[in-house]
Amino acid sequence: MKLTVWTYEGPPHVGAMRVATAMKGLHYVLHAPQGDTYADLLFTMIERRDHRPPVTYTTFEGRDLGEDTAGIFKQTCQDAYDRFKPQAIIVGASCTAELIQDDPGGLAETMDIPVPVIPLELPSYQRKENFGSDETFYQIVKALARPMDRTPEVTVNILGPLALGFRHRDDIEEIKGLLYEMGIGINVVAPFDATPEDITRMGAAHANILMYPEHAETAARHLERTCGQPYTKTVPIGVAATHEFVAEVAQICGVEPRKDLSRLRQPWWSKSVDSTYLTGKRVFLFGDATHVKAAARIARDEMGFEVVGLGCYNREFARSIRDLAKDFGVTPLITDDYLEVEKAIEDASPEMILGTQMERHIGKRLGIPCAVISAPVHVQDFPARYSPQMGWEGANVIFDTWIHPLVMGLEEHLLAMFREDFEFHDEAGPSHHGGHAPKPSENGGPAPQTAVTHGGPAPQTPRDISGTGNEAGAAQAQTEAQSSGSDVMVWLADAERELKKIPFFVRGKARRNTEKFATEQGLQEISLDTLYEAKAHYAR
Ligand code: SF4
Repeated sequence: MKLTVWTYEGPPHVGAMRVATAMKGLHYVLHAPQGDTYADLLFTMIERRDHRPPVTYTTFEGRDLGEDTAGIFKQTCQDAYDRFKPQAIIVGASCTAELIQDDPGGLAETMDIPVPVIPLELPSYQRKENFGSDETFYQIVKALARPMDRTPEVTVNILGPLALGFRHRDDIEEIKGLLYEMGIGINVVAPFDATPEDITRMGAAHANILMYPEHAETAARHLERTCGQPYTKTVPIGVAATHEFVAEVAQICGVEPRKDLSRLRQPWWSKSVDSTYLTGKRVFLFGDATHVKAAARIARDEMGFEVVGLGCYNREFARSIRDLAKDFGVTPLITDDYLEVEKAIEDASPEMILGTQMERHIGKRLGIPCAVISAPVHVQDFPARYSPQMGWEGANVIFDTWIHPLVMGLEEHLLAMFREDFEFHDEAGPSHHGGHAPKPSENGGPAPQTAVTHGGPAPQTPRDISGTGNEAGAAQAQTEAQSSGSDVMVWLADAERELKKIPFFVRGKARRNTEKFATEQGLQEISLDTLYEAKAHYAR
Protein backbone atom coordinates (compact mmCIF):
# COMPACT_ATOMS: atom_id res chain seq x y z
CA MET A 1 0.00 0.00 0.00
CA LYS A 2 1.28 3.43 -0.85
CA LEU A 3 -0.32 6.77 -0.03
CA THR A 4 -0.67 8.51 -3.38
CA VAL A 5 -2.00 11.87 -4.39
CA TRP A 6 -0.50 12.48 -7.81
CA THR A 7 0.51 9.78 -10.29
CA TYR A 8 2.69 10.38 -13.33
CA GLU A 9 1.14 7.47 -15.17
CA GLY A 10 -2.31 5.91 -15.20
CA PRO A 11 -3.01 2.18 -15.01
CA PRO A 12 -1.96 0.09 -18.03
CA HIS A 13 -5.46 -0.12 -19.50
CA VAL A 14 -5.27 3.66 -20.03
CA GLY A 15 -2.19 2.96 -22.19
CA ALA A 16 -4.30 0.46 -24.14
CA MET A 17 -7.05 3.07 -24.49
CA ARG A 18 -4.49 5.48 -25.91
CA VAL A 19 -3.60 2.99 -28.62
CA ALA A 20 -7.25 2.18 -29.39
CA THR A 21 -8.21 5.85 -29.49
CA ALA A 22 -5.28 6.69 -31.75
CA MET A 23 -6.36 4.06 -34.25
CA LYS A 24 -9.34 3.83 -36.54
CA GLY A 25 -11.45 0.71 -37.13
CA LEU A 26 -10.28 -0.88 -33.87
CA HIS A 27 -12.50 -1.38 -30.82
CA TYR A 28 -11.52 -2.04 -27.21
CA VAL A 29 -13.83 -4.09 -25.02
CA LEU A 30 -12.79 -3.45 -21.45
CA HIS A 31 -14.02 -5.53 -18.56
CA ALA A 32 -14.37 -2.80 -15.96
CA PRO A 33 -16.74 -1.75 -13.20
CA GLN A 34 -19.15 1.11 -13.38
CA GLY A 35 -17.12 4.29 -12.90
CA ASP A 36 -14.01 3.30 -14.83
CA THR A 37 -15.39 5.18 -17.81
CA TYR A 38 -13.78 8.25 -16.20
CA ALA A 39 -10.79 7.74 -18.49
CA ASP A 40 -12.89 8.87 -21.48
CA LEU A 41 -12.48 12.40 -20.21
CA LEU A 42 -8.76 12.34 -20.78
CA PHE A 43 -9.41 12.14 -24.48
CA THR A 44 -12.45 14.32 -24.84
CA MET A 45 -11.32 17.05 -22.47
CA ILE A 46 -7.53 17.10 -22.32
CA GLU A 47 -6.84 16.17 -25.91
CA ARG A 48 -10.20 17.70 -26.94
CA ARG A 49 -11.13 14.86 -29.28
CA ASP A 50 -14.52 15.40 -30.86
CA HIS A 51 -15.72 11.84 -30.29
CA ARG A 52 -15.69 9.28 -27.52
CA PRO A 53 -12.81 6.78 -27.44
CA PRO A 54 -13.70 3.49 -29.22
CA VAL A 55 -13.98 1.70 -25.90
CA THR A 56 -16.95 -0.30 -24.58
CA TYR A 57 -16.95 -1.06 -20.87
CA THR A 58 -18.81 -3.94 -19.27
CA THR A 59 -19.62 -1.59 -16.35
CA PHE A 60 -20.54 -4.36 -13.95
CA GLU A 61 -21.90 -3.32 -10.60
CA GLY A 62 -21.59 -4.62 -7.06
CA ARG A 63 -24.71 -6.72 -7.35
CA ASP A 64 -23.32 -8.44 -10.48
CA LEU A 65 -20.32 -9.79 -8.64
CA GLY A 66 -22.01 -12.91 -7.30
CA GLU A 67 -23.56 -13.55 -10.68
CA ASP A 68 -22.32 -14.11 -14.17
CA THR A 69 -19.75 -11.36 -14.88
CA ALA A 70 -18.26 -13.58 -17.59
CA GLY A 71 -21.65 -13.58 -19.31
CA ILE A 72 -21.80 -9.80 -19.04
CA PHE A 73 -18.42 -9.61 -20.74
CA LYS A 74 -19.47 -11.86 -23.62
CA GLN A 75 -22.70 -9.98 -24.17
CA THR A 76 -20.86 -6.63 -24.15
CA CYS A 77 -18.32 -7.96 -26.63
CA GLN A 78 -21.04 -9.16 -28.99
CA ASP A 79 -22.97 -5.89 -28.70
CA ALA A 80 -19.84 -3.87 -29.40
CA TYR A 81 -19.07 -5.89 -32.50
CA ASP A 82 -22.64 -5.63 -33.78
CA ARG A 83 -22.77 -1.92 -33.21
CA PHE A 84 -19.34 -0.76 -34.40
CA LYS A 85 -18.34 -3.48 -36.88
CA PRO A 86 -14.62 -2.89 -36.28
CA GLN A 87 -11.84 -4.49 -38.34
CA ALA A 88 -10.37 -5.91 -35.12
CA ILE A 89 -11.11 -5.94 -31.39
CA ILE A 90 -8.79 -5.81 -28.40
CA VAL A 91 -10.08 -7.18 -25.11
CA GLY A 92 -8.78 -6.81 -21.58
CA ALA A 93 -9.55 -6.04 -17.95
CA SER A 94 -9.15 -2.94 -15.83
CA CYS A 95 -7.54 -3.11 -12.38
CA THR A 96 -10.76 -4.04 -10.61
CA ALA A 97 -11.86 -6.58 -13.20
CA GLU A 98 -8.43 -8.18 -12.98
CA LEU A 99 -9.31 -9.14 -9.42
CA ILE A 100 -12.49 -11.02 -10.37
CA GLN A 101 -10.43 -13.27 -12.61
CA ASP A 102 -12.64 -13.55 -15.64
CA ASP A 103 -10.42 -14.11 -18.67
CA PRO A 104 -11.53 -11.69 -21.41
CA GLY A 105 -9.20 -13.23 -24.02
CA GLY A 106 -10.39 -16.79 -23.34
CA LEU A 107 -14.02 -15.72 -23.22
CA ALA A 108 -13.81 -13.86 -26.52
CA GLU A 109 -12.18 -16.87 -28.15
CA THR A 110 -15.25 -18.98 -27.41
CA MET A 111 -17.39 -16.52 -29.34
CA ASP A 112 -18.00 -16.37 -33.00
CA ILE A 113 -16.65 -12.93 -33.80
CA PRO A 114 -15.61 -12.76 -37.45
CA VAL A 115 -12.69 -10.32 -37.00
CA PRO A 116 -9.38 -10.76 -35.16
CA VAL A 117 -9.83 -10.54 -31.38
CA ILE A 118 -6.57 -9.66 -29.66
CA PRO A 119 -6.34 -10.38 -25.92
CA LEU A 120 -4.30 -8.07 -23.68
CA GLU A 121 -2.59 -9.17 -20.49
CA LEU A 122 -1.92 -5.97 -18.60
CA PRO A 123 -0.76 -6.50 -15.02
CA SER A 124 -2.34 -3.46 -13.39
CA TYR A 125 -0.66 -3.87 -10.05
CA GLN A 126 2.89 -4.10 -11.36
CA ARG A 127 2.93 -1.99 -14.48
CA LYS A 128 1.62 1.35 -15.69
CA GLU A 129 0.29 3.36 -18.58
CA ASN A 130 3.40 3.42 -20.80
CA PHE A 131 3.80 -0.32 -20.42
CA GLY A 132 0.13 -0.64 -21.37
CA SER A 133 0.54 1.32 -24.60
CA ASP A 134 3.77 -0.43 -25.59
CA GLU A 135 2.34 -3.88 -24.86
CA THR A 136 -0.97 -3.19 -26.60
CA PHE A 137 0.68 -1.91 -29.76
CA TYR A 138 3.04 -4.89 -29.71
CA GLN A 139 0.14 -7.35 -29.40
CA ILE A 140 -1.70 -5.70 -32.28
CA VAL A 141 1.40 -5.74 -34.51
CA LYS A 142 2.21 -9.30 -33.50
CA ALA A 143 -1.32 -10.44 -34.35
CA LEU A 144 -1.67 -8.61 -37.65
CA ALA A 145 1.68 -7.73 -39.29
CA ARG A 146 3.35 -10.27 -41.54
CA PRO A 147 6.56 -10.37 -43.60
CA MET A 148 5.90 -9.39 -47.21
CA ASP A 149 7.59 -7.94 -50.28
CA ARG A 150 9.08 -4.49 -49.84
CA THR A 151 7.53 -1.54 -51.63
CA PRO A 152 9.42 -0.75 -54.87
CA GLU A 153 10.31 2.75 -53.68
CA VAL A 154 11.98 3.32 -50.30
CA THR A 155 9.30 3.62 -47.60
CA VAL A 156 9.26 3.46 -43.81
CA ASN A 157 6.72 3.00 -41.05
CA ILE A 158 6.48 5.62 -38.33
CA LEU A 159 5.95 3.95 -34.96
CA GLY A 160 4.74 5.26 -31.63
CA PRO A 161 2.50 8.33 -31.91
CA LEU A 162 -0.60 7.87 -29.76
CA ALA A 163 -3.70 9.53 -28.52
CA LEU A 164 -2.97 11.77 -25.54
CA GLY A 165 0.70 11.97 -26.54
CA PHE A 166 2.65 15.12 -25.77
CA ARG A 167 2.87 16.88 -29.18
CA HIS A 168 2.54 13.60 -31.09
CA ARG A 169 0.16 15.11 -33.62
CA ASP A 170 2.68 17.73 -34.74
CA ASP A 171 5.79 15.57 -34.33
CA ILE A 172 4.36 13.26 -37.01
CA GLU A 173 4.29 16.18 -39.45
CA GLU A 174 7.89 17.09 -38.66
CA ILE A 175 9.07 13.51 -39.19
CA LYS A 176 7.17 13.30 -42.46
CA GLY A 177 8.86 16.52 -43.56
CA LEU A 178 12.35 15.21 -42.73
CA LEU A 179 11.64 11.99 -44.63
CA TYR A 180 10.14 13.82 -47.58
CA GLU A 181 13.31 15.88 -47.96
CA MET A 182 15.26 12.63 -48.33
CA GLY A 183 12.78 11.21 -50.83
CA ILE A 184 11.54 8.53 -48.44
CA GLY A 185 7.87 7.56 -48.60
CA ILE A 186 5.61 6.65 -45.69
CA ASN A 187 4.16 3.16 -45.64
CA VAL A 188 2.15 3.25 -42.37
CA VAL A 189 2.03 5.64 -39.41
CA ALA A 190 0.85 3.71 -36.35
CA PRO A 191 -0.95 3.63 -34.02
CA PHE A 192 -1.97 7.26 -34.84
CA ASP A 193 -4.74 7.13 -37.46
CA ALA A 194 -3.83 3.58 -38.57
CA THR A 195 -6.47 0.92 -39.13
CA PRO A 196 -5.95 -2.80 -38.36
CA GLU A 197 -5.84 -3.27 -42.12
CA ASP A 198 -2.91 -0.80 -42.28
CA ILE A 199 -1.09 -2.84 -39.64
CA THR A 200 -1.30 -5.92 -41.85
CA ARG A 201 0.83 -4.20 -44.51
CA MET A 202 3.53 -2.83 -42.23
CA GLY A 203 5.90 -5.55 -43.42
CA ALA A 204 6.20 -3.82 -46.80
CA ALA A 205 8.27 -0.93 -45.43
CA HIS A 206 12.07 -0.94 -45.68
CA ALA A 207 12.62 0.28 -42.12
CA ASN A 208 10.86 1.67 -39.07
CA ILE A 209 11.13 5.10 -37.53
CA LEU A 210 10.73 4.68 -33.78
CA MET A 211 9.42 8.02 -32.60
CA TYR A 212 8.72 7.21 -28.97
CA PRO A 213 10.51 4.21 -27.43
CA GLU A 214 8.09 4.29 -24.46
CA HIS A 215 5.19 3.38 -26.72
CA ALA A 216 6.55 1.27 -29.54
CA GLU A 217 9.97 -0.19 -28.84
CA THR A 218 8.66 -3.71 -28.30
CA ALA A 219 6.75 -3.56 -31.60
CA ALA A 220 9.86 -2.19 -33.37
CA ARG A 221 11.95 -5.06 -32.03
CA HIS A 222 9.30 -7.55 -33.08
CA LEU A 223 9.21 -6.16 -36.63
CA GLU A 224 12.99 -6.28 -36.77
CA ARG A 225 12.89 -9.96 -35.83
CA THR A 226 9.97 -11.04 -37.96
CA CYS A 227 10.11 -8.70 -40.96
CA GLY A 228 13.83 -7.87 -40.98
CA GLN A 229 13.15 -4.15 -40.65
CA PRO A 230 15.84 -2.09 -38.92
CA TYR A 231 14.57 0.73 -36.73
CA THR A 232 16.00 4.10 -35.75
CA LYS A 233 17.50 4.58 -32.29
CA THR A 234 17.82 8.36 -32.41
CA VAL A 235 14.87 10.48 -31.34
CA PRO A 236 15.06 13.74 -33.31
CA ILE A 237 14.38 16.24 -30.51
CA GLY A 238 16.96 19.03 -30.63
CA VAL A 239 19.14 20.27 -33.47
CA ALA A 240 22.06 17.86 -32.96
CA ALA A 241 19.72 14.91 -32.48
CA THR A 242 17.83 15.81 -35.65
CA HIS A 243 21.08 15.92 -37.64
CA GLU A 244 21.97 12.50 -36.22
CA PHE A 245 18.50 11.19 -36.98
CA VAL A 246 18.76 12.27 -40.62
CA ALA A 247 22.17 10.58 -40.89
CA GLU A 248 20.83 7.39 -39.30
CA VAL A 249 17.74 7.24 -41.53
CA ALA A 250 19.87 7.88 -44.63
CA GLN A 251 22.17 5.08 -43.62
CA ILE A 252 19.52 2.44 -42.91
CA CYS A 253 17.49 3.39 -45.99
CA GLY A 254 20.48 3.80 -48.30
CA VAL A 255 19.59 7.35 -49.39
CA GLU A 256 21.31 10.77 -49.31
CA PRO A 257 21.00 12.62 -45.96
CA ARG A 258 19.39 15.68 -47.54
CA LYS A 259 17.98 18.37 -45.24
CA ASP A 260 16.39 21.75 -45.63
CA LEU A 261 17.58 23.98 -42.82
CA SER A 262 15.93 27.14 -44.12
CA ARG A 263 13.30 27.10 -41.37
CA LEU A 264 15.69 26.37 -38.53
CA ARG A 265 16.09 29.48 -36.38
CA GLN A 266 17.03 28.01 -33.01
CA PRO A 267 20.86 28.02 -33.42
CA TRP A 268 21.01 31.72 -34.31
CA TRP A 269 18.48 32.62 -31.62
CA SER A 270 20.65 30.79 -29.07
CA LYS A 271 23.76 32.55 -30.34
CA SER A 272 22.25 36.02 -30.53
CA VAL A 273 23.46 38.39 -27.86
CA ASP A 274 20.27 38.49 -25.84
CA SER A 275 20.72 34.77 -25.16
CA THR A 276 23.96 35.39 -23.31
CA TYR A 277 21.93 35.61 -20.13
CA LEU A 278 20.92 31.97 -20.62
CA THR A 279 24.50 30.81 -20.19
CA GLY A 280 24.94 28.80 -17.05
CA LYS A 281 21.28 28.99 -15.95
CA ARG A 282 20.88 26.05 -13.59
CA VAL A 283 18.13 23.69 -14.76
CA PHE A 284 16.52 20.59 -13.31
CA LEU A 285 14.94 18.07 -15.68
CA PHE A 286 12.24 15.53 -14.97
CA GLY A 287 9.73 13.66 -17.16
CA ASP A 288 9.56 10.56 -19.31
CA ALA A 289 13.01 9.22 -20.13
CA THR A 290 12.93 9.97 -23.84
CA HIS A 291 12.08 13.63 -23.43
CA VAL A 292 14.47 14.07 -20.52
CA LYS A 293 17.35 12.57 -22.49
CA ALA A 294 16.65 14.88 -25.42
CA ALA A 295 16.11 17.92 -23.22
CA ALA A 296 19.33 17.39 -21.28
CA ARG A 297 21.37 17.55 -24.45
CA ILE A 298 19.55 20.59 -25.74
CA ALA A 299 19.88 22.34 -22.39
CA ARG A 300 23.62 21.83 -22.13
CA ASP A 301 24.81 21.84 -25.72
CA GLU A 302 22.32 24.05 -27.52
CA MET A 303 21.14 26.54 -24.90
CA GLY A 304 24.19 26.77 -22.63
CA PHE A 305 22.35 25.85 -19.43
CA GLU A 306 23.92 23.95 -16.59
CA VAL A 307 22.02 20.74 -15.81
CA VAL A 308 21.95 20.39 -12.02
CA GLY A 309 19.63 17.41 -11.74
CA LEU A 310 17.68 14.98 -13.90
CA GLY A 311 15.42 12.00 -13.66
CA CYS A 312 12.45 10.10 -15.02
CA TYR A 313 9.32 8.46 -13.65
CA ASN A 314 9.19 5.45 -15.98
CA ARG A 315 11.35 2.78 -14.45
CA GLU A 316 11.58 0.80 -17.70
CA PHE A 317 14.17 3.36 -18.83
CA ALA A 318 16.03 3.72 -15.54
CA ARG A 319 19.28 2.37 -16.90
CA SER A 320 19.53 4.86 -19.74
CA ILE A 321 18.74 7.72 -17.35
CA ARG A 322 21.50 6.53 -15.01
CA ASP A 323 23.95 6.57 -17.93
CA LEU A 324 22.81 10.03 -18.88
CA ALA A 325 23.22 11.31 -15.33
CA LYS A 326 26.75 9.96 -15.27
CA ASP A 327 27.51 11.86 -18.43
CA PHE A 328 26.20 15.05 -16.85
CA GLY A 329 27.87 14.46 -13.50
CA VAL A 330 24.62 14.52 -11.51
CA THR A 331 22.74 12.02 -9.38
CA PRO A 332 19.91 10.34 -11.31
CA LEU A 333 16.42 10.46 -9.83
CA ILE A 334 14.26 7.50 -10.77
CA THR A 335 10.96 7.83 -8.98
CA ASP A 336 7.24 8.11 -9.51
CA ASP A 337 6.79 9.92 -6.21
CA TYR A 338 6.40 13.64 -6.83
CA LEU A 339 7.36 14.40 -3.23
CA GLU A 340 10.80 12.95 -3.92
CA VAL A 341 10.99 15.07 -7.05
CA GLU A 342 10.01 18.15 -5.09
CA LYS A 343 12.66 17.43 -2.47
CA ALA A 344 15.35 16.90 -5.13
CA ILE A 345 14.39 20.17 -6.80
CA GLU A 346 14.47 22.02 -3.51
CA ASP A 347 17.91 20.60 -2.77
CA ALA A 348 19.27 21.47 -6.20
CA SER A 349 17.62 24.94 -6.10
CA PRO A 350 17.69 25.40 -9.87
CA GLU A 351 16.81 28.63 -11.68
CA MET A 352 14.50 26.71 -13.96
CA ILE A 353 12.64 23.39 -14.10
CA LEU A 354 11.95 21.47 -17.28
CA GLY A 355 9.34 18.86 -16.42
CA THR A 356 5.76 17.69 -16.52
CA GLN A 357 2.56 19.22 -15.28
CA MET A 358 3.55 18.07 -11.76
CA GLU A 359 6.83 19.96 -11.90
CA ARG A 360 4.94 23.02 -13.08
CA HIS A 361 3.02 22.90 -9.81
CA ILE A 362 6.18 22.24 -7.83
CA GLY A 363 7.78 25.21 -9.59
CA LYS A 364 4.84 27.41 -8.68
CA ARG A 365 5.11 26.39 -5.06
CA LEU A 366 8.84 27.02 -4.93
CA GLY A 367 8.73 30.13 -7.08
CA ILE A 368 10.89 28.61 -9.82
CA PRO A 369 10.02 29.09 -13.50
CA CYS A 370 9.08 25.88 -15.34
CA ALA A 371 8.57 24.81 -18.93
CA VAL A 372 6.83 21.55 -19.85
CA ILE A 373 8.84 18.97 -21.80
CA SER A 374 6.94 15.74 -21.19
CA ALA A 375 3.65 14.03 -20.37
CA PRO A 376 1.68 14.01 -18.16
CA VAL A 377 0.41 17.33 -19.34
CA HIS A 378 -2.69 19.39 -18.99
CA VAL A 379 -5.06 20.76 -21.58
CA GLN A 380 -2.88 23.76 -22.43
CA ASP A 381 -0.23 21.42 -23.78
CA PHE A 382 -2.57 20.21 -26.49
CA PRO A 383 -2.45 23.52 -28.29
CA ALA A 384 -4.48 24.50 -31.32
CA ARG A 385 -1.37 25.93 -33.03
CA TYR A 386 1.36 23.85 -34.64
CA SER A 387 3.87 23.05 -31.87
CA PRO A 388 6.08 20.01 -32.51
CA GLN A 389 9.04 19.04 -30.36
CA MET A 390 10.82 17.08 -33.08
CA GLY A 391 12.78 18.23 -36.09
CA TRP A 392 13.80 21.74 -37.08
CA GLU A 393 10.52 23.40 -36.22
CA GLY A 394 10.51 21.49 -32.94
CA ALA A 395 13.86 23.09 -32.11
CA ASN A 396 12.36 26.52 -32.77
CA VAL A 397 9.34 25.71 -30.59
CA ILE A 398 11.55 24.39 -27.77
CA PHE A 399 13.70 27.52 -27.74
CA ASP A 400 10.67 29.79 -27.44
CA THR A 401 8.96 27.60 -24.86
CA TRP A 402 11.94 27.25 -22.58
CA ILE A 403 13.00 30.85 -22.50
CA HIS A 404 9.47 32.17 -22.13
CA PRO A 405 9.25 31.59 -18.36
CA LEU A 406 12.64 33.21 -17.82
CA VAL A 407 13.09 36.93 -17.52
CA MET A 408 14.69 38.05 -20.76
CA GLY A 409 18.22 39.42 -20.69
CA LEU A 410 17.37 43.03 -21.50
CA GLU A 411 14.39 42.90 -19.21
CA GLU A 412 16.50 41.47 -16.40
CA HIS A 413 19.02 44.26 -16.85
CA LEU A 414 16.38 46.96 -16.89
CA LEU A 415 14.53 45.54 -13.93
CA ALA A 416 17.72 45.69 -11.90
CA MET A 417 18.51 49.18 -13.14
CA PHE A 418 15.06 50.56 -12.35
CA ARG A 419 14.53 48.57 -9.21
CA GLU A 420 13.39 51.65 -7.31
CA ASP A 421 10.91 52.69 -9.99
CA PHE A 422 7.24 52.72 -9.04
CA GLU A 423 6.53 50.08 -11.65
CA PHE A 424 9.29 47.73 -10.64
CA HIS A 425 9.84 48.00 -6.92
CA ASP A 426 9.63 44.74 -5.04
CA GLU A 427 5.96 45.06 -4.19
CA ALA A 428 4.77 46.02 -7.66
CA GLY A 429 3.97 42.42 -8.56
CA PRO A 430 4.51 40.78 -11.93
CA SER A 431 4.37 42.90 -15.04
CA HIS A 432 1.56 40.84 -16.54
CA HIS A 433 -1.57 39.00 -15.36
CA GLY A 434 -2.99 42.17 -13.93
CA GLY A 435 0.05 42.78 -11.77
CA HIS A 436 -0.45 46.52 -12.15
CA ALA A 437 -4.02 46.53 -11.02
CA PRO A 438 -4.16 49.02 -8.19
CA LYS A 439 -4.39 47.45 -4.79
CA PRO A 440 -7.73 47.84 -2.98
CA SER A 441 -7.84 50.88 -0.78
CA GLU A 442 -7.09 50.39 2.87
CA ASN A 443 -10.67 50.90 4.00
CA GLY A 444 -11.60 47.90 1.91
CA GLY A 445 -13.44 49.95 -0.72
CA PRO A 446 -13.05 49.30 -4.41
CA ALA A 447 -9.72 49.97 -6.03
CA PRO A 448 -9.40 53.29 -7.82
CA GLN A 449 -9.74 53.01 -11.58
CA THR A 450 -6.60 53.41 -13.61
CA ALA A 451 -6.96 56.18 -16.18
CA VAL A 452 -5.60 55.12 -19.54
CA THR A 453 -5.29 57.40 -22.53
CA HIS A 454 -5.90 55.64 -25.82
CA GLY A 455 -4.29 57.79 -28.51
CA GLY A 456 -6.26 60.75 -29.89
CA PRO A 457 -5.10 64.35 -29.84
CA ALA A 458 -3.21 65.37 -26.77
CA PRO A 459 -5.21 67.67 -24.49
CA GLN A 460 -4.07 71.28 -24.34
CA THR A 461 -4.76 71.67 -20.67
CA PRO A 462 -2.44 70.50 -17.95
CA ARG A 463 -3.39 67.16 -16.43
CA ASP A 464 -1.92 64.34 -14.43
CA ILE A 465 0.56 62.38 -16.49
CA SER A 466 2.26 60.82 -13.55
CA GLY A 467 2.26 57.52 -15.34
CA THR A 468 0.23 55.82 -12.65
CA GLY A 469 -2.96 57.67 -13.37
CA ASN A 470 -4.36 56.66 -10.04
CA GLU A 471 -4.91 58.73 -6.94
CA ALA A 472 -1.85 57.43 -5.23
CA GLY A 473 0.28 58.33 -8.23
CA ALA A 474 -1.22 61.79 -8.45
CA ALA A 475 -0.61 62.30 -4.77
CA GLN A 476 2.95 61.16 -5.21
CA ALA A 477 3.51 63.62 -8.06
CA GLN A 478 1.97 66.38 -5.95
CA THR A 479 4.26 65.54 -3.07
CA GLU A 480 7.28 65.52 -5.33
CA ALA A 481 6.34 68.88 -6.79
CA GLN A 482 5.86 70.34 -3.36
CA SER A 483 9.02 68.92 -1.97
CA SER A 484 10.96 70.39 -4.84
CA GLY A 485 9.45 73.78 -4.07
CA SER A 486 7.52 74.17 -7.31
CA ASP A 487 3.84 74.27 -8.09
CA VAL A 488 2.34 71.48 -10.18
CA MET A 489 4.48 71.14 -13.26
CA VAL A 490 2.77 71.77 -16.58
CA TRP A 491 3.62 69.53 -19.49
CA LEU A 492 2.99 71.12 -22.87
CA ALA A 493 1.30 68.98 -25.50
CA ASP A 494 4.42 68.41 -27.66
CA ALA A 495 6.49 67.36 -24.69
CA GLU A 496 3.78 65.08 -23.45
CA ARG A 497 3.48 63.41 -26.84
CA GLU A 498 7.24 62.87 -26.92
CA LEU A 499 7.20 61.44 -23.43
CA LYS A 500 4.69 58.84 -24.53
CA LYS A 501 7.12 57.59 -27.17
CA ILE A 502 9.53 56.51 -24.46
CA PRO A 503 9.12 52.81 -23.61
CA PHE A 504 6.74 52.35 -20.68
CA PHE A 505 9.34 50.80 -18.42
CA VAL A 506 11.56 53.90 -18.43
CA ARG A 507 8.84 56.52 -18.91
CA GLY A 508 8.26 57.13 -15.23
CA LYS A 509 11.94 57.69 -14.64
CA ALA A 510 12.20 60.06 -17.61
CA ARG A 511 9.19 62.02 -16.34
CA ARG A 512 10.60 62.46 -12.88
CA ASN A 513 14.08 63.38 -14.11
CA THR A 514 12.64 65.96 -16.48
CA GLU A 515 10.50 67.54 -13.78
CA LYS A 516 13.43 67.62 -11.41
CA PHE A 517 15.56 69.27 -14.08
CA ALA A 518 12.83 71.81 -14.87
CA THR A 519 12.47 72.66 -11.18
CA GLU A 520 16.19 73.20 -10.88
CA GLN A 521 15.99 75.52 -13.87
CA GLY A 522 13.13 77.41 -12.19
CA LEU A 523 10.70 76.41 -14.95
CA GLN A 524 6.98 75.86 -14.43
CA GLU A 525 6.34 74.41 -17.85
CA ILE A 526 7.96 71.55 -19.67
CA SER A 527 8.34 72.03 -23.38
CA LEU A 528 9.85 69.71 -25.94
CA ASP A 529 13.15 71.61 -25.53
CA THR A 530 13.06 71.11 -21.77
CA LEU A 531 12.58 67.40 -22.28
CA TYR A 532 15.58 67.18 -24.62
CA GLU A 533 17.74 69.37 -22.39
CA ALA A 534 16.89 67.20 -19.41
CA LYS A 535 17.76 64.15 -21.42
CA ALA A 536 21.11 65.64 -22.43
CA HIS A 537 21.72 66.74 -18.85
CA TYR A 538 21.23 63.27 -17.39
CA ALA A 539 23.13 61.62 -20.20
CA ARG A 540 26.29 63.48 -19.23
S1 SF4 B 1 -9.22 0.92 -9.92
FE1 SF4 B 1 -7.96 1.21 -11.73
S2 SF4 B 1 -9.37 1.89 -13.28
FE2 SF4 B 1 -10.44 2.11 -11.37
S3 SF4 B 1 -10.01 4.22 -10.80
FE3 SF4 B 1 -8.43 3.00 -9.85
S4 SF4 B 1 -6.76 3.07 -11.32
FE4 SF4 B 1 -8.55 3.73 -12.40
